[in-house]
Amino acid sequence: MTELLIRGAALLVTMDDARRELEDADLLMREGCIAAIGTGLETTGKVVDARGCLVTPGLVNTHHHLYQTLTRAVPGGQDALLFGWLRTLYPIWARYTPEHMFVSAQAGLAELALSGCTTSSDHLYLYPGGSRLEDTIHAAAEIGLRFHPTRGAMSIGESAGGLPPDSLVESEAAILEDCIRVVDRFHDPADGAMCRVGIAPCSPFSVSRELMRDAALLARDKGVMLHTHLAENDEDIAYSLSQFGCRPGQYAEELGWTGADVWHAHCVKLDAGEINLFARSRTGVAHCPCSNCRLGSGIAPVRAMRDAGVPVGLGVDGSASNDAGNLVAEARQAMLMQRVARGADAMSAREALEIATRGGADVLGRSDTGRLATGKRADIAVWDMSGIEAAGSWDKAALLLAGPSRVRDLFVEGRQVVADGHLMTVDLPSLVEKQERLALTLRE
Ligand SMILES: [Zn+2]
Repeated sequence: MTELLIRGAALLVTMDDARRELEDADLLMREGCIAAIGTGLETTGKVVDARGCLVTPGLVNTHHHLYQTLTRAVPGGQDALLFGWLRTLYPIWARYTPEHMFVSAQAGLAELALSGCTTSSDHLYLYPGGSRLEDTIHAAAEIGLRFHPTRGAMSIGESAGGLPPDSLVESEAAILEDCIRVVDRFHDPADGAMCRVGIAPCSPFSVSRELMRDAALLARDKGVMLHTHLAENDEDIAYSLSQFGCRPGQYAEELGWTGADVWHAHCVKLDAGEINLFARSRTGVAHCPCSNCRLGSGIAPVRAMRDAGVPVGLGVDGSASNDAGNLVAEARQAMLMQRVARGADAMSAREALEIATRGGADVLGRSDTGRLATGKRADIAVWDMSGIEAAGSWDKAALLLAGPSRVRDLFVEGRQVVADGHLMTVDLPSLVEKQERLALTLRE
């Protein structure tokens, strides 16, 4: 029986149903689950001394494009709006091989792990040079994070009036066939699953109406989730109105893209009617504040969404539009952005942390993680609050106001992925070296 005990945490923020916060607390993990939370717990297994530390659920990332970690801060895309930015980057991404995909995903996941993330989704919608979804699945297995890859797709290329070059789009028949392949091969519906696959056409403007509808039918048939980009900025809304004759929310609803098994990235421009639709149908949102700032898209109405009952999680988005992949920094940004829009009481540090943990887990259909309670999966972040970043703080639970931007320790399914600030699963310096070398090959 594998046990591990976190002992003597200065504060343990559970995000359980009662939102309990426990001082001087222990947490016992057994066989991948949380076996007990309390004081004076004992174990025959390893003990991790957490004095001076804040313990929280592991953070959950609900939107990323891990393949973009090799294309950060590309000069031509640094100051462009969304569509111009895409036109700059597509030809670079078209040069990728499976090795680029694998290393880029590892680098992105390593960065997430060090920032407290235990579960990440990914949205991979282009497959150049023979790349496949499993390039990222294998990367996540090595890093040790719980992974929700989504089989993305684009089918409308330049010659058909779309944005991406024709070399990056696929036929819709091939897309659906590969969706079936990866779901059958890699999706695990069981409690505690380390890999769950979703279906995720890139956006309503990069595939046909038929593919959107067929993807929804397929996902329901297979019992997997649906994901895409929606209502990201003003151009996006204008495109929807001119091409589809309706707003994005209506388009989504008509094609089966609402429900508790659907989550949409960004949703910066949802109007009041669409927020009600999402709340009624329990449709989830991946809020990506840094990317929305970086691309000048706007401030998502997260306060209104939460008040209406829309499930909201947090996403770092792809590294080419953030360009960082630090999830705890993203949570701080989410809190600050709502305050810019609605005032200092618009979102507390605790609420932003809740969105980053429990909120994201619920968006991904994972009520087995994102909170610390007996019987839940042992996905846990340990933050050292004895350093300079938190010194002088009167409230250790207010991690997003004053606290470290990297974890001291991280556990996923009870296994230690980060120890004393170091990644345990993959050698980080050699990963960075590979990432740099492969990024260089894209410039040639
Ligand atoms: Zn995105």
